Amino acid sequence: MIACARCGRERKALAGPPVPGATGEEIAQRVCAGCWEEWAAMEIKVINELRLNFMDPAAQATLTSHMRDFLFPGDDSSVKPGERLDFDSIGEP
Ligand SMILES: [Zn+2]
Repeated sequence: MIACARCGRERKALAGPPVPGATGEEIAQRVCAGCWEEWAAMEIKVINELRLNFMDPAAQATLTSHMRDFLFPGDDSSVKPGERLDFDSIGEP
């Protein structure tokens, strides 16, 4: 069990880092399995909303910034104020 940085509850931890590197380690230590699953669905909406093209090396960094916004809402955001996404309404018509 971990105290999740996104939902604020004591919930089941991930079995291991869901992505490579230090970011994956941090997610495994701070985010519950349920919230990671929520991001997995949200990630698709973010990619579509921003029309991210992974041939562009900047696209992964952009996605990671929005992922951190979603998973660690209490941290300082690495997304510029005008570029932050409203995750509650993203993908709605
Ligand atoms: Zn959670």
